[in-house]
Amino acid sequence: MSIIIAIDGFSSTGKSTIAKALAKEIGYHYVDTGAMYRAVTLYAMEHKLIGADGSVDEKALVGKLPEIKIGFSLQPDGTQHTTLNGRDVEDAIRRMDVSQNVSPVAAIPEVRHALVAMQQEYGREKGIVMDGRDIGTTVFPDAELKIFMTASAETRAKRRLNELLQKGQATNFEEVLANVVHRDHIDQTRKESPLRRADDAIDLDNSEMTIDEQNAWLLARYREALKKAGQ
Ligand code: C5P
Repeated sequence: MSIIIAIDGFSSTGKSTIAKALAKEIGYHYVDTGAMYRAVTLYAMEHKLIGADGSVDEKALVGKLPEIKIGFSLQPDGTQHTTLNGRDVEDAIRRMDVSQNVSPVAAIPEVRHALVAMQQEYGREKGIVMDGRDIGTTVFPDAELKIFMTASAETRAKRRLNELLQKGQATNFEEVLANVVHRDHIDQTRKESPLRRADDAIDLDNSEMTIDEQNAWLLARYREALKKAGQ
């Protein structure tokens, strides 16, 4: 039997790292829902629907939603790249300017409704690991395994800074920390499916854990959940 695994939590807690590793290990599909909100944001930026002050032309963006096709394409090395209307946007959606604009876009109810419907469709046959902010609360409230990840803002900003620097993007610790804190604030205080720990989620604070330790911990939780679901 297969189950649904929902991994939620704050920005840059390393959700996708462990979600991807688990999906690979157990042969499940992996869906990065943050990438979907980022792709919509990139579309809005490219179509000048976001002003220099960060204000979003919500009405125009909502009108364009039917034209925004998001997908995932499997690469020869086994990784997945996000596509926007058939174009590979995997690198573009990780840029700092997209990170700076994404939370207001993700707060628009119509954007959430459209993406949540797609996410629910991906999980119809179970056998999926999905990471995001509202997977265990809104997308799959009945998921058999829910994880809620946290780590201090400083730890998260350090990790994110290293990722961006490795990709050759010019930024600094203060800018990344401010973005992480700002996104968390908008994500937690928005009206539509805010970032919130599901009551039945299992907490994972990985501030002091290596990736191998986190992978082993998650695999153990998966085995427990599978056993419980089979009873
Ligand atoms: O996970 P990632 O940091 O790439 O997500 C980017 C942004 O997308 C988040 O800061 C949040 O505003 C939004 N998001 C969301 N709901 C999700 C996943 C991401 O609102 N399920």
